[in-house]
Amino acid sequence: MDQKFTGARIRQDFIDYFIKQGHTFVPSSSLVPGGDATLLFTNAGMVQFKDVFLGTDKRPYTRAANSQKCMRVAGKHNDLDDVGRDDTHHTFFEMLGNWSFGDYYKKEAITWAWQLLTEVWDLPKEHLYATCFEDEKRQIESDDEAAGYWRQQPGFDPTHVYFFGRKDNFWEMAEIGPCGPCSEVHLDRGPKYCNMQDVPGHVCGVNGACQRFLELWNLVFIQYNRLSPLQLEPLPAKHVDTGMGLERIVSVLQDVDSNYKTDLLFPMLDIVQRLTGHSDAERAANITPYRVIADHARTAAFLIADGVVPGNIRRNYICRMIIRRAARFGSKIGLDEPFLAQVADEVIRIYGNFYPELVKNRSTILDNVTREEQRFQRTVEAGVTKLEGMLARIKRQGIQILPGGQAFDLYATYGLPLEITRDIAREQHLDVDEAGFNEAKEEHSIASGGGEALGIMETERVGAYTDLLNTLQTQGKLDPEGVYYDPYNRLEVEGAILAIIRGGQSVESAITGDQVEIVLPETCFYVESGGQVSDTGMIVSANGHGWEIRVDDTRKPIAGFIVHIGEVMLGQPTRADMAIARVDAQRRRDIMRNHTATHLLHHELQAVLGAHARQAGSLVAPDRLRFDFTHPEALSIDQLEQIEAGVNRNILGDYQLHIANKPLKQAIFEGATALFGEKYGETVRNITIGDPEPFSNELCGGTHVESTGDIGIFLILSEGSTSAGIRRIEAVTGRGAYEIVQIRTRLLKNAAELLSAKLIDIPARIEELLAEQSTSRKQIALLKRELAATEFVRQLGNVDTSTGVPLLIANLPDTDADTLREMADMFRQRFASGVSVLASVQENRPIIIAGISDDLVRLGLHAGELVKFIAAPLGGGGGGKPTLAQAGGKDTTKLDVALKAVPGWLKSHLNNPK
Ligand code: ATP
Ligand code: MG
Repeated sequence: MDQKFTGARIRQDFIDYFIKQGHTFVPSSSLVPGGDATLLFTNAGMVQFKDVFLGTDKRPYTRAANSQKCMRVAGKHNDLDDVGRDDTHHTFFEMLGNWSFGDYYKKEAITWAWQLLTEVWDLPKEHLYATCFEDEKRQIESDDEAAGYWRQQPGFDPTHVYFFGRKDNFWEMAEIGPCGPCSEVHLDRGPKYCNMQDVPGHVCGVNGACQRFLELWNLVFIQYNRLSPLQLEPLPAKHVDTGMGLERIVSVLQDVDSNYKTDLLFPMLDIVQRLTGHSDAERAANITPYRVIADHARTAAFLIADGVVPGNIRRNYICRMIIRRAARFGSKIGLDEPFLAQVADEVIRIYGNFYPELVKNRSTILDNVTREEQRFQRTVEAGVTKLEGMLARIKRQGIQILPGGQAFDLYATYGLPLEITRDIAREQHLDVDEAGFNEAKEEHSIASGGGEALGIMETERVGAYTDLLNTLQTQGKLDPEGVYYDPYNRLEVEGAILAIIRGGQSVESAITGDQVEIVLPETCFYVESGGQVSDTGMIVSANGHGWEIRVDDTRKPIAGFIVHIGEVMLGQPTRADMAIARVDAQRRRDIMRNHTATHLLHHELQAVLGAHARQAGSLVAPDRLRFDFTHPEALSIDQLEQIEAGVNRNILGDYQLHIANKPLKQAIFEGATALFGEKYGETVRNITIGDPEPFSNELCGGTHVESTGDIGIFLILSEGSTSAGIRRIEAVTGRGAYEIVQIRTRLLKNAAELLSAKLIDIPARIEELLAEQSTSRKQIALLKRELAATEFVRQLGNVDTSTGVPLLIANLPDTDADTLREMADMFRQRFASGVSVLASVQENRPIIIAGISDDLVRLGLHAGELVKFIAAPLGGGGGGKPTLAQAGGKDTTKLDVALKAVPGWLKSHLNNPK
């Protein structure tokens, strides 16, 4: 291949070109969006910049360029159905973008796009087209500005500008919020690319139905803020957001008619072909499975590298589904053994340079893929057979759609994801009720406690905070960076109250009992982030006004703005009053101990379990810490002890913590662990522990103890699973741990007292008691049998032979089923031929046991039928062997009457043998 146009080269060309235009290269954020619970996966380049557009976050640069990892397999953007069937849609892909945050605008964006396409990449100018916005509703201004800039580009054919309406050329982030016109670049690839040549009346065109014109690049100009469906207001700062699919531009520059023929994907197809041993013709005949496998292997590798392992819900489900779907397409072309790891390894080879997380997590990726294939193999055949049966049944009934509940059963029982069920159904021209599937899944997840609540920030309040922040800054009361935030060096600060917010309104003063939010010029209260909870404490008058506010929470609703939330306990705090803000120091020290212990735990998990045991979530509270990590199975007692001991060893080592701010790149280079789903700025806070070589090296904005000895002691309380592949440890330190030790010691002392033993003798004493208990149980059983024997002898006098065979009917109050059965045995030993019916009432319910000798069974009598006959009037039923059966019932008052009917039953059966 022409080295000028390898996929990797083209990606780098893009980035280099924009760096030359003053842009900062920003690495791709994780596929798991940071701090956004509403979005399953990053699905466009703008996801990591969303808060910048909303004005709730700031960056140290105003021009950025990136290549963003994206997924479109769920939610609003779901391209799964097209993947493998067309040449251009993938579940995972890369989006190239350049960004202006209130910096340059249309002119530069268009000029640079044109230069990159035509001068750096030499695309034929005469074949390029541009689309601009014209509102079909005539409510929003046409984007003649953009059209004008296109027409000014050197060599651009001015007739190649087309106008389209809202669907194609107006971009909105959501129902309300930032939005604006967009302008797309399209390329005419020539008539041979038209795939609709035989369709009568078809005309090729920009945004047309065929593949001749290809959309390459979308330039979005964010200039409005939408307040309502009919209300737009101009934004004070205008932004540019562009997106160009990497695979697509690579296919153009490599002059191939499919993304799968570019060097970003064809090596994976080649691996598959090597595995199947297909000829080229066979490969071509099976191109869809080949493509799906290449696509899905790539997605799985990137997902797992970002910490998303196969599992049952949300993101983890998608990872599972992708791997299983690839496995099934594999089996369609004869790959019946786990094979995906070999394809995924090729993905790592191709992408590892630019995305080092792939290389770093190679063994985790390969292991997870293979294990998931193995899990699937165990059940897939049974699942598919079951599905075939279901489909045949609905076809017979003339139904076209498989009910969602049935599809969910297939998933719950056989692990067949909806997407595979749908693939198979569609192969037979049927479909699946997806909404029904989701309902069933939802019910199931709620029933099993896996339901999740989503939190969304209230948009109007953001506006109010932004206004207040702007006012305070204009008045010079806050500097441009906003509230000065330093939770690291002090636990107390002093300053004038800048604002009191009550009920969402800024007020002059508040009185005792009011719920308020207090804004100060600076704060030492920690604001929840990175799993560490917010500080609480007090704000009190600094100059004798005598008021006090209890702070229950601290929040940062928008960038640069921090509010202390709480209740006025005393007096009347008033704006401009001098205040002292004091963090609850004891609580904070508890939190710091837990946070540092979390780092020690993370290190120890990797030391004991392996590098794959990575953080997947954490909570650092005053009373405990909770740590989720990726690991496939439960930890043994041994492992837990090792981990606990290791952490305590490092506590006793009393290592000083080294905390430094440094550039993200440097920290990563020095070996710091970055977390998935976390957002990092350019400069990061880096915490290392260990001398002389650090053993723990993390990026963390949390508050920590000075040296590990401060933690005191670390105890694991529990270990369990939160979802497939994710384990959770809960632990305590310092005061919390001491409390646990106290409680446990007290319990042990209580137990010792009850056992009249010394602490050390408790286990031996319990063993002794258990042995005694088992002996007693045996003795009780023996006694019961003896009792039964005595009772049996007493009952012998009641044996009735009037039916022609010996018949014993006895109702023995408060006798258990074992004893009754025992007696039935004794009767059988005593009478070679005969029938016994033994009944009792226990806990207000009748029990009936019937025994029938072998000779009578040969005549056709059945003990099961006999007990059923007796139990029926008692509202019960039962069954058993022909020789011995048992029944129960509800109504004890009818027992005697029912027993009296037995001789009649016996006579009629003896007279009419079967
Ligand atoms: P399409 O109409 O092709 O689905 P789109 O309008 O959904 O594209 P945008 O949201 O504008 O695409 O994304 C910008 C670029 O990202 C597209 O021009 C395309 O090159 C690329 N892209 C979008 N979806 C995918 C996908 N599923 N796989 C690969 N590339 C994609
Ligand atoms: Mg699309």
